[in-house]
Amino acid sequence: MNLNEIKEKALENHIPIIMDDTLNTIKNIMEEKKPSAILEIGTAVGYSAICFSYFLNDGGKIDTIERDLERIEEAKENIKIVDKSKKINIIEGDAVEILPTLEEKYDMVFIDAAKGKYPFFLEQALRLLKDDGIIFADNILYKGYVMSDYNKHKQRTAVTHLREYIKKVTEDPDLDTEILEVGDGLAITKKKIQVWYWYNIENKRGKKIWENHQKLWYS
Ligand code: SAH
Ligand code: MG
Repeated sequence: MNLNEIKEKALENHIPIIMDDTLNTIKNIMEEKKPSAILEIGTAVGYSAICFSYFLNDGGKIDTIERDLERIEEAKENIKIVDKSKKINIIEGDAVEILPTLEEKYDMVFIDAAKGKYPFFLEQALRLLKDDGIIFADNILYKGYVMSDYNKHKQRTAVTHLREYIKKVTEDPDLDTEILEVGDGLAITKKKIQVWYWYNIENKRGKKIWENHQKLWYS
């Protein structure tokens, strides 16, 4: 089995794997940033983790969290088949319990699990993200429900939490976020790094003085 067969099988089994245009958007950014440490929330059968693993920096690795035992087994098999067991580490269990126990920092976090937990995942992702890191949140527009006022009861809680996620990442002055309409919607968030610097200016009488300025730096 190769990567394409893993993908086809997942689609046949209705496993919600990352969509092609979403994947391409992330791959393009990864090609530039070459992340060494990635955290994924929601492994399913390992498809997205395997795709990302080809764009890791040399020696890089992916930690990916999944709670569904059947999917974990299939993910392990798939990862073995493509010979990426050294790069991809599955953390088994509920991300809500696992995330608060993690301590190391990541260059990239991919949020792709229970939509109702997105605000909590964001809080944890920000805590675990390096200052120049990047957070991707998949399914952020959820079939268009998030931007429309049509709310079927079944989706209402998910939509409320996705809207909360969007509000937080777009209104927080320390964050810089783009929401893209690729796939099922992708939110891309970076931390703004604040840099203080001094520079030389002239006052009204032409005398050189120094002034302190703050600049927001987009990594
Ligand atoms: N990233 C995968 C698809 C993930 S589908 C890909 O693109 O190939 C979402 C997965 O998240 C499901 O397998 C589901 O079991 C898992 N999941 C949902 N909520 C979770 C939670 N709280 N903790 C761990 N896994 C969770
Ligand atoms: Mg998804």
